[in-house]
Amino acid sequence: MVLLIKKNYKLTIIAFIALMVVIPIIIPIFLFFNDSEFTNIDIELRFNGDTAYIYVADQMSINTTHYRIPGTQGREDCAQYFIDKFQQIDPLIDYNLHNFTIQSVECQNVLFKMNENYKNIVILGAHYDSRAKATKDSTNPDLPVPGANDGASGCAVLIELAEVLYSRMNNLSVQIWFLFFDAEDQGTDLGVGISGWDWIEGSKQFVLEIDNFYNSSKEDFDAMILLDMVGGTNLRFINEQHSTSSLLDELFETGRQLGYTSAFPSDPIVSSISDDHVPFLNFGIPSADLIIKFWNQPVEWPYHHTTGDDISHISNYSLEITGKTVEQFIYNNYYVISDQYQGNFPWSDDFNLLDSELFILLMISLPIVGIAVVVLVLRSRSKKENI
Ligand SMILES: [Zn+2]
Repeated sequence: MVLLIKKNYKLTIIAFIALMVVIPIIIPIFLFFNDSEFTNIDIELRFNGDTAYIYVADQMSINTTHYRIPGTQGREDCAQYFIDKFQQIDPLIDYNLHNFTIQSVECQNVLFKMNENYKNIVILGAHYDSRAKATKDSTNPDLPVPGANDGASGCAVLIELAEVLYSRMNNLSVQIWFLFFDAEDQGTDLGVGISGWDWIEGSKQFVLEIDNFYNSSKEDFDAMILLDMVGGTNLRFINEQHSTSSLLDELFETGRQLGYTSAFPSDPIVSSISDDHVPFLNFGIPSADLIIKFWNQPVEWPYHHTTGDDISHISNYSLEITGKTVEQFIYNNYYVISDQYQGNFPWSDDFNLLDSELFILLMISLPIVGIAVVVLVLRSRSKKENI
């Protein structure tokens, strides 16, 4: 009997150690397993990265002193640039200017609508303001950020997407909003900020007044997709955790099926970013943020909130990856003759993962804790036996 207990005791310890080592290996396999099962519809994609690159360059040359800082002439001229571009696509285009004030500064969101006769709406958004201070720049922290990636890239993709989607609008059974946010990027980072400003002011103000922009008895929102820092070299999107996971997973799978496996990795960094999609999520709209790892100035793209965020670190290929993925996503879900598609619509599922840093910490500490517990138990046993 004593022998049996001893044997069981040993077995329990071995099982315990095994579990503590095996769990950290098995959990990631399940967490990163992508359950989106569908095939992109077969259609020619028209998004052109070279054209989108020109739209980034256009925004950079609008004002080379203040760029597109809220309250400056550059910001105003950029809004007019969007209006000019969209009126070139459709001279009769319906657009709305949403004015609001932050810290006595006049700000403005700009909204264009396509296919207004359709009840269901997909919002494609990006912020167009550039940051007033390069708070992460070690040499020039008081200079403004040019914002080629942080701002202009997402807007450039929206303009080029508008062109290609307009060319097929009669075959799309959805209303699409192209929404440019002001005042996203003026908050505090690393303890330094722009006095009195918070992040994502433009989208917060827009959602507060969203009822003024649609008819809630006749229209409804299907999804919101946000593009932020989508044009940098070495594009690699993260698994952003505020995002509705079924929507973000579908965007990842759509991009991966197009062959963009480096931009949409199977094991993306996991993190939660307070970005312009959050007010829309809080309003109840499934939303996703296509964004890169920008914090800690990573080697892939180390120019976040520095004066180095300029056109020289923009890649037409990155713009094309983003644009074609969103273009394909729209066709997958809304191209009228398509009936074979089985994606995650209506994107009601949402699962959250632990942030990568916390996850790694947990995976390292679990085996250590496990082994420590076993050592302590063995020690206390041997002490007892000695007594
Ligand atoms: Zn920023």
